[in-house]
Amino acid sequence: MNANEIVSDLPILGLWQSFCAVFVVLAAAVMIYVARLNARLRSAKAILEKEVAERHVAEARLAQNERHLRQIIETEPECVKVHSRDGTILEMNPAGLRLVEADERGEVIGISVYDLVAPDFAPAYRLLTDAVYAGAVKKLEFEIISLKKRRLWMETHAAPLMDGDGNVTAILAITRNISAQKLYEQHLRREYRELAHASRMDTMGQLATMLAHELNQPLTAIANYSRGAHLRLRGSPANADVAAAMEHVCAQAERAANIIRSLRGFISKEGETVSSLSMNDVVGQVLSIAEIEARAQHVVIECELASNLPVVLGERTQLEQVVLNIVRNGFEAMECVPASQRRMRITTSTASTGMARVCIDDTGPGLPPDEIGKLFTPFFTTKQAGMGMGLSICRSIVEAHGGNLSAAQHEAGQGLSFAFELPPLGEHLVLQ
Ligand code: ADP
Repeated sequence: MNANEIVSDLPILGLWQSFCAVFVVLAAAVMIYVARLNARLRSAKAILEKEVAERHVAEARLAQNERHLRQIIETEPECVKVHSRDGTILEMNPAGLRLVEADERGEVIGISVYDLVAPDFAPAYRLLTDAVYAGAVKKLEFEIISLKKRRLWMETHAAPLMDGDGNVTAILAITRNISAQKLYEQHLRREYRELAHASRMDTMGQLATMLAHELNQPLTAIANYSRGAHLRLRGSPANADVAAAMEHVCAQAERAANIIRSLRGFISKEGETVSSLSMNDVVGQVLSIAEIEARAQHVVIECELASNLPVVLGERTQLEQVVLNIVRNGFEAMECVPASQRRMRITTSTASTGMARVCIDDTGPGLPPDEIGKLFTPFFTTKQAGMGMGLSICRSIVEAHGGNLSAAQHEAGQGLSFAFELPPLGEHLVLQ
């Protein structure tokens, strides 16, 4: 190459050199950029990895907390349940399953609380649900019918479960069985009623004693005077009408005096010592007292007393109490049948076992078959103000005398039939 050719290539060389210089600068810039990007990516990755790690730790802690919470709920001795507004049960712990007598979770989850709440308490439970959904914390005592069909008393404390926005999503209820406590409260109430009744009876007894004492003398005087007047009038034919009237006065006055005497005997617990006695006399004595009530209640009493009844050994007042209690129960039972159908039949007889037997039948409504067996159970009563102790005391008295007392629905279907038997004192004492 000559000098001229070299001179003519000089511009191209300059251009090439410029291009190379630009390229080097650009390449350097790209490399710096890539290096920075790499550094940023590395730092982002490090942050991400740290966040992921923290998240794992948080999730593990959350899972741990949830496990703890579940363990607490699972081992909680009270029933913990969660249900929705319509009552669908979403959760229930093992104590809850035991409470409602479920064998497994599947029997309860998904059913409605209203399948368990006793129907008469469903309206109250709905009110509780509405109040809790309005944000309140509520307490309620109610009865459930368990899956084994037992009625049990429960006490529940219900609170709302809310989402992040404060909306109530479900109800959390902690429930415990308070049946034993309720039974005890019922028992206490009965005892209180019994005490109040006993105290009323005591006051009545004192009043009756006073009354019987006060009436005894004037009645005896009336009977004596009228008997004297009757004797005088009897001699004069002109006064025959008055004499006849006076005879009635005498009879009625003596009857009244007898009633008062019987009442005094009954109240003053005469004959509290054991003696040989005839159940015919016991029945007669009670009837003289019960007669007034029978008339007031339009009850017709038919009496058929066996003439050869075995004599028994017993406490007169106690045995009178047995007859009076059964008779008065019959009167009360017959209050709900028309007056024209109220009849009581009292019979005494000798049982095939040789015992002295007393039967008292009424024409009241009787009792459903499943309640007949409860008649002698203490505190069984169907009366508003009843105590349910009368018949159980009667049975104790009869059994203490070596006898037995039973009740049966009348064969004709209407009314109850009570019968008690007492062992005879001995063949030689059989009444003629
Ligand atoms: P109380 O009279 O205080 O209820 P009782 O022990 O004397 O206690 O009687 C228990 C229950 O037995 C009564 O409440 C009543 O329901 C029932 N009963 C007793 N006698 C009769 C009867 N003759 N007819 C129907 N029910 C009766």
